[in-house]
Amino acid sequence: MNSDANDSVQTIDCDTTVRRLWDYLDEELDASRYAEVEAHVRDCVHCAEHFAFAQHFLGAVSEALDESHDPAALRAQVLKRLADDGFRAA
Ligand SMILES: [Zn+2]
Repeated sequence: MNSDANDSVQTIDCDTTVRRLWDYLDEELDASRYAEVEAHVRDCVHCAEHFAFAQHFLGAVSEALDESHDPAALRAQVLKRLADDGFRAA
């Protein structure tokens, strides 16, 4: 175990950041990992886009769940919400 870096935020790469994305949004990271992700996203446009999309996605899903429990309708709702927010389906 290497735990001598409690004070300084480690630099992490894009792969690591994206892998932590969902845990970050679920607030399941410990404080130092959380800080590493935040520091990376602040400086990296590529990852910032990923995170913005994921945040919008979760928001769209929870809104759609309030309105419908039919999977097809739910999917349509989520895609519509994302499109309204300026995201395109790939
Ligand atoms: Zn990145």
